Amino acid sequence: MSGVYQRFGVRTIINASGPATRLSGSIMAPEVAEAMAEAGRSCVDIAELQAAASSVIARHTGAEAGYVTSGAAAGLLLGTAACVTGLDPTRMNRLPDTTGMKSRVVMARSHRNFYDHAVRSVGIELVEIGISDRFSGAGVRDAEPWEYAAAIDDDTAAVVYVAYAHTQPELSAVVEVAHAASVPVIVDAAGQLPPASNLSRFLAEGADLVAFSGGKAIAGPQSSGILAGRRELIQAAALQHLDLDILWDQWNPPAGLIDKSRLPGAPHHGIGRPCKVGKEEIVGLLTALERFVEEGDDARRARWLEHMRQLAEAAGSLPGAEVELRDDPKRAAIPAVHVQIDEDACGKTALDVVRALQDGDPSVHANPSHVREGVVAFGPMCLKDGEPEVVGRRLREVLGG
Ligand SMILES: *Cc1c(COP(=O)(O)O)cnc(C)c1O
Repeated sequence: MSGVYQRFGVRTIINASGPATRLSGSIMAPEVAEAMAEAGRSCVDIAELQAAASSVIARHTGAEAGYVTSGAAAGLLLGTAACVTGLDPTRMNRLPDTTGMKSRVVMARSHRNFYDHAVRSVGIELVEIGISDRFSGAGVRDAEPWEYAAAIDDDTAAVVYVAYAHTQPELSAVVEVAHAASVPVIVDAAGQLPPASNLSRFLAEGADLVAFSGGKAIAGPQSSGILAGRRELIQAAALQHLDLDILWDQWNPPAGLIDKSRLPGAPHHGIGRPCKVGKEEIVGLLTALERFVEEGDDARRARWLEHMRQLAEAAGSLPGAEVELRDDPKRAAIPAVHVQIDEDACGKTALDVVRALQDGDPSVHANPSHVREGVVAFGPMCLKDGEPEVVGRRLREVLGG
């Protein structure tokens, strides 16, 4: 199982947290891994493969077109670049110098996060609106649609919206003010799957582009993602991502992806070139996407819940800690186990427990997001059969159960 890692002297870990990049993402199904291996055994025209991917992504998202990226962050970069340049190859060649282009991108302060490096790297000016009163506890309101409207001007290339279950304002209200000024809306929906219905939801609510991670719930290759949305923007994204080092008269791009007749010439290696995608990732992502849709939310949830049950059962009752199986679908799309640590009773903080699990053998990674509230959290998305029991046993050992 761990042969390749052993060969390079790297231990495998138990990922009881989730598909974080630092923990190497999710685990691919054998069919996905086999599809990638097979893809690696033949060469194809990469644009033709992306055109085929566009159809598959369009079918599952309701988008006009789609594209396989090297992750959601790459999707944000390509989407932003597409909104800034349109189909103008001169502009594409000039990025990240945005002189003379629409180059302001509007974002609510409460949506800001360090993944927006991908947006900023295009050379835009990020315009923040609103104050995060709701998050600081000082107020009840987040950014409001009128504040987007006030910030949008003739130089605005796009609005970037980060979708979480708790995100305010509503996407449809932001789309309304942005579209009133003919400004496209890019949605970062990297981790917003499941439910599978979210594949089409943000576009149905009016988003022009939406970016998903391929290496999270879809369980595709870790360095894959989806960009879906308006055909013209996907075309502009593709032009700044594909290797177009080819003679113009020789160039025959697939009509499903690129309309050559609309271009005065082809851009050179674009701003998206550093986040290139291989045939293996494209085929792996498409295979994983089809499996993700086919399995369905209920079966996936049942599979995840079973692992969380096994983990809670193996942990049993612990001295100085309360084990809670969180299985209410209304509270969380993904089941979880929360272990509330009573620091006085067990002499350890939640962070101590997270570290002891991580530094033990095998190394078990819990989700540290709630340690300040004394909670060690566990998620099912990257656990393999047999591992929940090991996590429960390690918890008993660490807490002296
Ligand atoms: C995970 C995540 C990303 C990055 O996704 P990648 O597929 O790893 O590039 C971007 N934005 C948000 C909100 C995320 O959760």
